[in-house]
Amino acid sequence: MISIENLSYMYKRGTPEENLALNNINLEIKQGEFIVIIGPNGSGKSTLAKQLNALLLPSKGRVLVNGMDTADASHLWEIRRQVGMVFQNPDNQLVATLVEEDVAFGPENLGIDPEEIKLRVDEALAAVGMLEYRKHPPHLLSGGQKQRVAIAGVLAMKPACLVLDEPTAMLDPAGRKEVMAAIKRLNKEEGLTVVHITHFMDEAAAADRVAVMERGKIVMEGPPREIFSRVRQLKDLGLDVPQMTELAALLRNRGVPVSPEILTVDEMVKAICQLT
Ligand code: ADP
Repeated sequence: MISIENLSYMYKRGTPEENLALNNINLEIKQGEFIVIIGPNGSGKSTLAKQLNALLLPSKGRVLVNGMDTADASHLWEIRRQVGMVFQNPDNQLVATLVEEDVAFGPENLGIDPEEIKLRVDEALAAVGMLEYRKHPPHLLSGGQKQRVAIAGVLAMKPACLVLDEPTAMLDPAGRKEVMAAIKRLNKEEGLTVVHITHFMDEAAAADRVAVMERGKIVMEGPPREIFSRVRQLKDLGLDVPQMTELAALLRNRGVPVSPEILTVDEMVKAICQLT
């Protein structure tokens, strides 16, 4: 669905090679895939996200969205429609006085027929479990609810891909859970392609694939089990691993033979029960 080829990006002309915000990135994102991008602060995750819907354009290399080059201005609106972005702060993404007006904002700008917009708004709100709040003012919702409304606003444009840049960073644990459940459902049940940037490793564990960034490069990429089993390498980058993976590594250091690829509490319980 998205093809990133030899992509480099510099915010300021003349930036030395080693300080490029993105430095020769190659990545293929398949339709229906759930990919998580992790990496220390300043490693280029947000810059990469903004390249996916032409908010930023490559300094070198190219980004193709369903075959459309993001640098070709004639594709701009179709690319923006197909690749919807959700950002960290839901308050910056909600503009209207009622939830349903907010969700209608995107399709209205696309010039879609009002009857069709109504259908889309209902469908999008239902998809994130917020239909019953459609007449509520967004500012009275919780953080998790606001973020789900922001996601519904993107869904109403019928995107092929959802790019989320730390959508849970400002939420409490309950809000995080709600938003993650909505994202996973959209991916698993509706087949939406998801690119999710996060610093919560438990969220990354739920993905099909994890890409790790450092200083503008992708330094590791693979299924979460494989990536998180490299506890040392991740710690060297200043990153955490899911709690259970860390526990598995500590147990292994003490000579307890559990698998290094454990990600969840259930898997840990099973592994420990098998020891006895
Ligand atoms: P991350 O999302 O992983 O924290 P960013 O993509 O925000 O990383 O930043 C990557 C690099 O680009 C960092 O060195 C950052 O300082 C720089 N950068 C980000 N935004 C800008 C900007 N608007 N102008 C100049 N440099 C920027």
